[in-house]
Amino acid sequence: MTILVCLDRDGTINKDENYFLGSTEDWKSKVKFLPGVVKGIKLLNQISDLEVFIITNQAGVALENDEFKALTEQRYQEVNEYIIQELAKKQAIIRGFFGCPYVDLKYAEKSRQRGRTIDSKYLIDNHPDWKPNPGMVEKAAKSLGKNLRECRVYFIGDRLTDVKTGLNAGGTGILVSRFKTRELGDEEKVQKLKLQYPNRVYIAKNFLEAVRIIKKDLESEPPCVKSTWNL
Ligand SMILES: [Mg+2]
Repeated sequence: MTILVCLDRDGTINKDENYFLGSTEDWKSKVKFLPGVVKGIKLLNQISDLEVFIITNQAGVALENDEFKALTEQRYQEVNEYIIQELAKKQAIIRGFFGCPYVDLKYAEKSRQRGRTIDSKYLIDNHPDWKPNPGMVEKAAKSLGKNLRECRVYFIGDRLTDVKTGLNAGGTGILVSRFKTRELGDEEKVQKLKLQYPNRVYIAKNFLEAVRIIKKDLESEPPCVKSTWNL
């Protein structure tokens, strides 16, 4: 069975200080990998039949205020390619990336409250790719000639939506908790989710611990895979 490890980008692979990476011309200097990420991806690369992907919501593309003008679909792809290249230079191999610039109504409303406006062409409520929907994970599987039922899916991320995406793809979600995660109350919500799905939800202190959880979990039988699309 193919093992698909999906990684959120901002706050999971690289530092996220609400940069909207790619919105400024000095974006390359803001790409800073978080501790344990390079080592963790290298450990994943040693496991056979395992592929690593970046799966990222890119709401910044949808924002049309002047400060986000440079963050186009082309730019976010450039940012993702750069991150993958920089990791590859350190022998940490990512197979590919998928990004979703289509925001939902909830995000649009939150943005409006912050004085930000959304380009209407990117406002598609409940787009299948918008995390926590599993559309991008499906695309990653498809890029390997597989469907989700033929894959064992893990999703590592710093937000509740990342964990839910893993579950919605019929797999396992691992929260990498950090200050912002706790501040937003996501860790508490993931704790509750863990009670419902004890063998499919984990909370890790950092990226390396998340990788260790995957390695240990792979030693056990795969759980009965059910799609729970509506989380
Ligand atoms: Mg994140």
